[in-house]
Amino acid sequence: MIDLISDTATRPSPEMRRAMAEAPVGDEQLREDPTVNRLQEMVAELTGKEAALFLPSGTMCNAIGIKVHTNPGDKIVLERWAHPYTSEAGGPGLLAGVMTALIEGERGVFTPEQVEEAVQPQGGFHSAPATLLCLENTHNRGGGKVWPLETFQAVAETAHRLGMKVHLDGARLLNAVVASGIPAKVWSQYVDTVWIDLSKGLGCPIGAVLAGDRETMERARRYKHMFGGAMRQAGIIAAAGVYALEHNVERLAEDHANAKLLAAGLSEIPGIAINPAEVETNIVFFDVSGTGRSPQELYDGLIARGVRMGSPTATRWRAVTHLDVSRADIERAVEVMEAVVTGRG
Ligand SMILES: *Cc1c(COP(=O)(O)O)cnc(C)c1O
Repeated sequence: MIDLISDTATRPSPEMRRAMAEAPVGDEQLREDPTVNRLQEMVAELTGKEAALFLPSGTMCNAIGIKVHTNPGDKIVLERWAHPYTSEAGGPGLLAGVMTALIEGERGVFTPEQVEEAVQPQGGFHSAPATLLCLENTHNRGGGKVWPLETFQAVAETAHRLGMKVHLDGARLLNAVVASGIPAKVWSQYVDTVWIDLSKGLGCPIGAVLAGDRETMERARRYKHMFGGAMRQAGIIAAAGVYALEHNVERLAEDHANAKLLAAGLSEIPGIAINPAEVETNIVFFDVSGTGRSPQELYDGLIARGVRMGSPTATRWRAVTHLDVSRADIERAVEVMEAVVTGRG
């Protein structure tokens, strides 16, 4: 199966599995797991933060990131398609007790003026205090868009000026780093907490790492425990993260090249609406409503020919490239899509 459904489809490679099997371990709750400690140091260094905390998932990084910066009854400001709003099962409401103010972005990106509008009025008894701005880079539903750095800096500075903290969902921050050439540290300097996902394009089976200043990370550790994320000999999975940071970052450029190739190929197929110029990283969005075929028909036709992408129930489709799909796989996926759409072959 050429699986373009998500970059979570990656499976640990034999070399990564070897690193996991051989990892020195200890009890991470007692801070005695040397591999977990090493991974945390690597991510703190990468993001230029004082400390970092290994967590089971990106969703928990967002849950804790929101929790450490807010009090129940506060308001968080985030983009309309941001992951904590669309895909975290109501976590911010239950776990942090916060309400949301949404910004309508342009492929996930918005302006300092929109931040100001979203928090108005700040102060007084009637409105909930807006205490946190959440950013996402790259932006998933925005099609893997990389924020323009000046805009990113400007919205973060505006939030700080308004008395808010800033949390960066960096599930795919390293895709943004590789695509833009702007180091993780440079993005992270404008935010209070930042995290990277290990289980997406980096190819690990499990895990994500949250970073921030030492005091915030100590409080984050308490919530890690409370939310059930404290583990024991977690070095066995942290080792995959160490391996990935050493071997799987620069190669994200191949995923980006493959995504561009896929977009260019899809744009040649009649009835598929796509703007290949919008593809900056490893995510490709396109619309299949002009093909004259139902999403179910297209989806089933692709599956029958060994390709998975999109959705049987929606016409806005997503395909994601990753380290388990090659350039040849992408060429094949385009051929198969063309055959399914045109009914030939
Ligand atoms: C996948 C994803 C998450 C959640 O990460 P998990 O590791 O799947 O829990 C959060 N934010 C974005 C932008 C994501 O793509």
